[in-house]
Amino acid sequence: MKKVGFIVLISLCNLAWAQKPHYCANHKQQAYTSNALRKNNASLGQMELMEKYDVGFHHLSLNVERTSTYISGNVRTIARSRVNGLDTFLFQLHANFIVDSVLGLNGNKLNFSKIKDVTAVLLPTPLVQNETIDLHIFYRGTPPSGASAAIGNGFSNRASPTFGNQITWSLSEPYSAYEWWPCKQSLQDKIDSIFVSVTTDTSNKVGSHGLLKLVEPKPNAKHTYHWQSFYPINYYLVMVTVGQYTEYKQYAKPKAINDSILIQHYIYSNPLAYTNNATSINATKPQLEILSDLFGLYPFHKEKYGHVMAPFSGGMEHQTMSSMGIFNYGIVAHEVAHQWFGDNVTCATWSDIWLNEGFASYSEYLVRYYLLPNTAAQELTDMHTQAKTQQGSVYVTDTTDVARIFSSALTYNKAASATRVLHYLLGDSLFYTVCKTYQTRFANGNASTDDLRKLVNELSGKNYDFYFNQWIYGTGFPIYKTTWNAQGAKLSLKVIRTNAHGGINKFDLPIQIKLKRTTGDTMLVVNINQDSNYFTLQTGSNVTAVEFDPNVWILKTSSVNKDINLNLSEPITPFSLTVFPNPGNGIIRFEPSTTKNYSIEVYDLSGRSFGTFTAKETFDLSHLQRGIYLLVISNENGERMPLRYIKE
Ligand SMILES: [Zn+2]
Repeated sequence: MKKVGFIVLISLCNLAWAQKPHYCANHKQQAYTSNALRKNNASLGQMELMEKYDVGFHHLSLNVERTSTYISGNVRTIARSRVNGLDTFLFQLHANFIVDSVLGLNGNKLNFSKIKDVTAVLLPTPLVQNETIDLHIFYRGTPPSGASAAIGNGFSNRASPTFGNQITWSLSEPYSAYEWWPCKQSLQDKIDSIFVSVTTDTSNKVGSHGLLKLVEPKPNAKHTYHWQSFYPINYYLVMVTVGQYTEYKQYAKPKAINDSILIQHYIYSNPLAYTNNATSINATKPQLEILSDLFGLYPFHKEKYGHVMAPFSGGMEHQTMSSMGIFNYGIVAHEVAHQWFGDNVTCATWSDIWLNEGFASYSEYLVRYYLLPNTAAQELTDMHTQAKTQQGSVYVTDTTDVARIFSSALTYNKAASATRVLHYLLGDSLFYTVCKTYQTRFANGNASTDDLRKLVNELSGKNYDFYFNQWIYGTGFPIYKTTWNAQGAKLSLKVIRTNAHGGINKFDLPIQIKLKRTTGDTMLVVNINQDSNYFTLQTGSNVTAVEFDPNVWILKTSSVNKDINLNLSEPITPFSLTVFPNPGNGIIRFEPSTTKNYSIEVYDLSGRSFGTFTAKETFDLSHLQRGIYLLVISNENGERMPLRYIKE
């Protein structure tokens, strides 16, 4: 039943995606929703035992055909003991499999016992700390078909309903790697390097990680694909895919290096598979180049990026070669971006999954903004619409609920919207500095939400805890009701703020407001940090319209209405204006400009007064020494506003 359901889903999605091309996330979530609670099949005690060693290397040597999910072969594992006296080596492998033998380095047979999904190998001599162990685990069997993984099974076999190609493929996120190979399902223990060798019929190609070193002929019309990757990789990102493919190569040339990066696509051998998807397939190169500009050089540039097609509903960011059930512009961008956010830097826990999915989903917008700008606004609208469809926090509090981990609304779209708020608060330069530093500081490792929080605070020199509390840990999103009234040069603005989902979470934000004026539009920023916010402004000329957050930085529901009853003379604080340039040489202009004199009191940081001045358009502090000053500006109503000014 599930299999049929998926095939129907795929054909429906093709139609939907023709118009709305960024739904990869939803499909992970749709598949998950049909699953009950899922969790890692090892117990906590077993996980503790596995954490006593550190995986260094795996070499998967498997026999796989495109016509069946049956697997036989062996996995070599080199690991280092983290403790003194490690006498048992535990690994996870599904109960369906038979372990035939476990051999030590010299080919000596080791005793083991396999109970359900966990196998314990008894080591002849206990290991001391930092001592390595080198094992070959020989196993065979048919993987389970309980649809436990993100999309379908950990290991699947099916014909593409559209193109007819029969494919066998793996998809392990989040807890299904043990359904097809012996492993340790721990996010925190990256495998330092991995070789994948798959023997199969000569009519097949095999997709996997890193570089294809050799296609070795074998007897009986078989050959072995040998892939090697020297970048650390997480257990859930390991994959093999087997089928009849046509290889299609491109080369990306990011600005950061003089060299080029191989892009290797394995497209179904049916020629229509390329023809029907050519636009999206060929978008890979410019997307990889622009993301290299924004986030730092493609993290696996010494090897490759690639795609391998498989008949499931969605995409999966397997390291250096994403598996693609569907090609469209958005899903290609999403999986390419995951190579930075998810693969190079992996979420520290499944609670932090937004660090993978939020940044990958926001990258769908960023790629469009830079490469297909006329499609960016719609992407943003869709992202915000989807983000509002489920209540809850971006941060995942229950990681046994796989449907919640991969919630399309919260983990993808609200997280992408929250990432955009961070982009807004930091500005372009600092936001991309944070992205790049996150990639280098946590390269080939993991990061948590708290790691990102500390990094943002460190690089900005400010405290952005409020952002994480409100947008990542907090629930809901803001509703703003704005009313305004204008007469001559005077504008009154009233903004009522609530949380769409109730609760105690308040969103304190600076908001851009665009004033349409008879003398030309102007933008100002007002701090909305109360439930009711009142501002009166001297605008210099008649305001004819007000736009709230015109560049759509903020996930929100917003209304703006003119209210001729809004009291223009109501005593209102604080009034808002900015001075520029700041820092500057002492010649200051006001924005919005004014027709009436402001009164300006000038203090240094110790509170020493430098006098009180009046000014209308420009204000001269060029006689003061370099340093930081506090300006307290008062308008004709006696409303006062402090501003920090840096004299260069
Ligand atoms: Zn994703």
